[in-house]
Amino acid sequence: MIKTVLALLCFLTLVSCNSTNFSKENKKPLLINIESKQLLAHFKLLSSDTLQVRKVSTEGNLKAQQYIIQQLSKFSVLPFKAKFTHPFNINSTFTTKTGNNVIGLIRGSEKKSGYIVLTAHFDHLGMKGNKIYNGADDNASGTSALLSIAEQLTKTPLMHNVILIFTDAEESGLKGSKAFIKENKELIGHIKLNINMDMLAGSINSHNLHYISRGLDTLLSHESFEQFKRNHLYQEFSIVKGFRRERHALNKRTQWLLASDHGAFHQNGIPFIYYGVGTHQNYHSHNDEFTNTNHQLLIKSTNAIYQQLLFLDQAI
Ligand SMILES: [Zn+2]
Repeated sequence: MIKTVLALLCFLTLVSCNSTNFSKENKKPLLINIESKQLLAHFKLLSSDTLQVRKVSTEGNLKAQQYIIQQLSKFSVLPFKAKFTHPFNINSTFTTKTGNNVIGLIRGSEKKSGYIVLTAHFDHLGMKGNKIYNGADDNASGTSALLSIAEQLTKTPLMHNVILIFTDAEESGLKGSKAFIKENKELIGHIKLNINMDMLAGSINSHNLHYISRGLDTLLSHESFEQFKRNHLYQEFSIVKGFRRERHALNKRTQWLLASDHGAFHQNGIPFIYYGVGTHQNYHSHNDEFTNTNHQLLIKSTNAIYQQLLFLDQAI
């Protein structure tokens, strides 16, 4: 019963605040709703055994690409440079594999020049022995968030043009995002901002979203930068600046600035924001499954990122 009442309260809260505007009086962002049922449907499918595994250059990876393209086509997202699939080579000592970024474009209202680039990697580790590594949090969660945000942006476009990159081979060393930069050098000076989403659902025990950013002070006025930081505080859950300092294999510190696809943009002087939960008990393990993630955290994180996107579109 309590659950029913809580669910009803949550529902009423969501439907009563459906707006894309920021309140002018106190500059508190109003709640924007990404359709959570569809978000979770993407998430369930992308992290299921149906896709086997999303390791680069495998059958499961191809199925994930096909699903993303099917969804983008359904929302009427435009293919980037006339095609959704952008292949690139991954060379190692003995083999050359092909990775495929899936890239879409949503035209802005052309009131502002330049691009905002949204990224999420869809590849994951593959099989180890007979164990399937589904990578639900890493990064079916970010991929699903990007699909849901894309659908919303086709209904309500931003002022800026938006490039959506579903990157491949992130797990092999940010190969997809680096290939995008390499193949689109003419765009670098026109990309104002990259927002990267990698791991938004955590484990059952994850409750906070974290972020890091660089270069926003070159894009925003002092007042807008302060507002950007305050927007995180207005959410109904904790969004924490920075990630825990930790060591991984070979006792090296995690370099969060280069830990996911935002690294390729950062290395080319493009301002970025990276959102993720940080590492957790199921990170890069076969337990990173749909049922072991925090679905409410994914819904809240996606909405919070979408709200910041709306704010930044106006402010930059
Ligand atoms: Zn990842």
